[in-house]
Amino acid sequence: MDLTSLKQISKQLAEKTVSCRELTRYYLDRIAKYDPAVNAFVSLDADHAMKSALRIDELRASGQSLSPLAGIPISIKDILCTKRLPTTCGSKILNGYISPFDADVVERLNRADMIILGKTNLDEFAMGGSTETSAAGSSKNPWDLSRTCGGSSGGSAAAVAAGFSPVSIGTDTGGSIRQPAAFCGVCGLKPTYGRVSRYGLVAYASSLDQAGPFGNTVSDLAIMLETIGGHDGRDSTSLNLPLDDYSNFLESDSKTYTIGIVPEHLDSPGLDPEIKQSILEAIDVYKKLGFRIQELVLPHHRYAIPTYYIVAPSEASSNLSRFDGAHYGFRAKVDKATAAGESALVAMYKHSRSQGFGIEVKRRIMLGTYTLSAFYYDAYYLKALRVRRLIRNDYDRAFESVDAILGPTTPTPAFRLGEKVNDPVQMYLEDLYTVSANLAGIPAVSIPSGLHSTGLPLGMQLQGAPLSEAKLLSIANAFHREMSYQPRVAFG
Ligand code: GLN
Repeated sequence: MDLTSLKQISKQLAEKTVSCRELTRYYLDRIAKYDPAVNAFVSLDADHAMKSALRIDELRASGQSLSPLAGIPISIKDILCTKRLPTTCGSKILNGYISPFDADVVERLNRADMIILGKTNLDEFAMGGSTETSAAGSSKNPWDLSRTCGGSSGGSAAAVAAGFSPVSIGTDTGGSIRQPAAFCGVCGLKPTYGRVSRYGLVAYASSLDQAGPFGNTVSDLAIMLETIGGHDGRDSTSLNLPLDDYSNFLESDSKTYTIGIVPEHLDSPGLDPEIKQSILEAIDVYKKLGFRIQELVLPHHRYAIPTYYIVAPSEASSNLSRFDGAHYGFRAKVDKATAAGESALVAMYKHSRSQGFGIEVKRRIMLGTYTLSAFYYDAYYLKALRVRRLIRNDYDRAFESVDAILGPTTPTPAFRLGEKVNDPVQMYLEDLYTVSANLAGIPAVSIPSGLHSTGLPLGMQLQGAPLSEAKLLSIANAFHREMSYQPRVAFG
């Protein structure tokens, strides 16, 4: 079996040199063997996956015309609602919760007859950059099990890197697709805000959240965006604009494009010198391919982290108010003694939230409640919204003269588990290069850019103008094709 890309897999299925059952069995066996060490999955749907594979094989044998993705296994982040499997968001507070509906993304995967193997681990409610805040325990980086696979969609990135599923769906509020993609040596795309429906995606920060794919190749990202993108009337921020033909556009001649670089970003004190070097080498590759390179200044980028860490917690504090012990999942037991004089209802709310949420989620709820409070609203939240607009304006100006902006995805390669989890500011600084794309609503992709001397993978980021995914992916693909770097399955 050649499992290097969706195209290869699809071709073998169509030619019947591989059956869906063999393919699905292969991935499930790998998960059974290696996931106890990686912890990429929080739930599996193995029996149903095998039944679906059998059904697709039968349909194919009967000569039925099928979607090119029919029978191809996939994994999805456990923040997308599914009727078949629990939706935990990596939180104790959703213990036992099963959604009565599927997310739009899930419906689209089902319509394409992809086989959902299971749901992947994440930082609690997607708050974090290492999956260490998950109630299900952290996922490990398949390249080095003592290191983080990144977060918050760490389980999805680890699943692709470990060969547990050829592609996966994650979500990105401030970097949660791109950062784990970089740490795990795979490709990841955060689409333009509104390109992929948020219906059934449990909200962390609604104005920033966006679902997107992980894959081993840029072409896999293009194919998956065609599959999960599109208008959905159930999400009022969903864009009613046609999708582009992303996969065909990949091969178009992109040599006349101009790539912007921000020298200030490459001179940040926290940037690992080898990451800087790999970006400089990528610039050379692009030059050799005939691209023009232009230096840029994004004057408000330096405010991106503080702006993000006001906007995101503000929205989170509001979004997470629905988890109260009454409506979903976990409910704390209270008796007269624990109620300590309060009404049983108030005590139930309080104890459910204090026992159900982990420490990082509580920190954000407190931050957000503070920044939204009547007294501080203007000083923090409103000001952050103004700076957010300035960050977007910087990009708009930049994209008048460049087609994409190239830079690092993360300041460091995958750090050790436990290294930053107790130091929130250090953890937040990992988001330096990723949050501004979410604040501006623009698409951004992370692709492997080489290897660090420690043997860990490195990633680089390309950002594009709103709805420029076709061009952005073709620029990413031009580099991807040039690199001798091959996707590596970390085990077996
Ligand atoms: N690390 C960022 C945060 O903790 C981004 C998370 C995300 O994109 N979901 O908010």
